[in-house]
Amino acid sequence: MALKTGRDYLESLRKLNMTIYLFGEKIENFVDHPVIRPSINSVARTYELALDERYRDLMTATSNLTGKTVNRFTHLHQSAEDLVRKVKMLRLLGQKTASCFQRCVGMDALNAIDTVTYEMDRKLGTNYHERFRRFATYVQENDLVVDGAMTDPKGDRSLRPSRQADPDLYLRVVRKNSDGIVVRGAKAHQTGAVNSHEICVMPTVAMTEEDRDYAVSFAVPSDTPGLLYIYGRQSCDTRKLEGSEIDVGNARYGGQEALVIFDDVFVPWERVFMCGEYQFSGALVERFAAYHRQSYGGCKVGVGDVLIGAAAVMAEYNGTAGASHIREKLIEMIHLNETLYCCGLACSSQGHRTPSGTYLVDLLLANVCKLNVTRYPYEIARLAEDIAGGLMVTMPSEKDFRHPEIGRYLEKYLKGVAGVPTEHRMRMLRLIENLTMGCAAVGYRTESMHGAGSPQAQRIVISRLANLDHKKKLARIIAGIDEEE
Ligand code: SF4
Ligand code: FE
Repeated sequence: MALKTGRDYLESLRKLNMTIYLFGEKIENFVDHPVIRPSINSVARTYELALDERYRDLMTATSNLTGKTVNRFTHLHQSAEDLVRKVKMLRLLGQKTASCFQRCVGMDALNAIDTVTYEMDRKLGTNYHERFRRFATYVQENDLVVDGAMTDPKGDRSLRPSRQADPDLYLRVVRKNSDGIVVRGAKAHQTGAVNSHEICVMPTVAMTEEDRDYAVSFAVPSDTPGLLYIYGRQSCDTRKLEGSEIDVGNARYGGQEALVIFDDVFVPWERVFMCGEYQFSGALVERFAAYHRQSYGGCKVGVGDVLIGAAAVMAEYNGTAGASHIREKLIEMIHLNETLYCCGLACSSQGHRTPSGTYLVDLLLANVCKLNVTRYPYEIARLAEDIAGGLMVTMPSEKDFRHPEIGRYLEKYLKGVAGVPTEHRMRMLRLIENLTMGCAAVGYRTESMHGAGSPQAQRIVISRLANLDHKKKLARIIAGIDEEE
């Protein structure tokens, strides 16, 4: 069985020789860095839960490549049921970490590249699929974390990749020889990149013939020479350096994004899955995006579960739990959260088999799922802030609370209902702050907006797939204008 433990995962990260910068400094030991470690703990949960008997059905699958039990994050979906289990797995992990656990981008990249390379080979006579499957088998056998890297910096959004003033603003092939290719460029907002063993690159938009150097997909080990990681800041991240657990809100878990620079990185042909086949770049973008838009119908719902729970506990601590408007607000939050889950399940259960045998979600429903995700977490967060009260953003620090002289004033005046320790009330307020405007808000709010594509990207797909002409025809038939065919 190719399953690693959480401890194995941590040890495997220590062996990587990556170049990482954070706060203007080169980080030598990123695994134990207080700002980075919570994000590693989140990924480690994807390993730990896979070895927990209670979650085995969700967290593992039987590989179609090797017949062995593999972590579902490395699996190629072989049925609509696999797609449904993926969404359930992501909800579970959202509940367990209350943050982004990062490993989904690699799973979504593996599945998208699998389907596209198969169809590309059949149409163009290329030989990418076999190579890709060897890579996928290696990922499964070694239970690796893969960063699915799509988003380029994009420079002037009105210009195509090859028309940019700086040609590197989209990642491109700068040289080719008989051994492989050399690539230059960057990938932005890379979720979990520093916590990954492999970086798996895809193009970020549909390319035309003049952009063929930009139509490139490949995978390289994350410590390949020429790769540089510049760690992204998150709101309140330096609280993790203060040594006060309460103020962090979620001290154990967190998400991670980085800017990844490819400074003339060599990729052997064995690891190249697209090189110039611009005709298939659009399909790769669309499918990766669709899988990741499905993902949000799981992970955001799991984090939403924690936020709803926190709001309900806060109402108890504040003595407002019995008020009818508070109960109504909690019901509203649950309704919104479960609606997102419905969308995640719907696009999965309506998934279909592609020619490679790998299952793809229903594209229209996956985009509807994500478009709802650009709105509902904001409303859920607004209601949580409403229930929590303003103390969430005006509360003094844990150091004041622990202070030998003034601590007793906070103990006395920050008290809610008698019987609940003041510290518990502070902890719950900080958790809600973390989820709605602290580090976890990156994943729960702004990432809900822009992750897997900004809302306009979903609207474009929805307008293309909705078949409005068919709806118009239905109306004309019912109104007696057209005959039923
Ligand atoms: Fe996974 Fe959600 Fe994080 Fe994307 S935002 S990597 S789907 S946990
Ligand atoms: Fe994301």
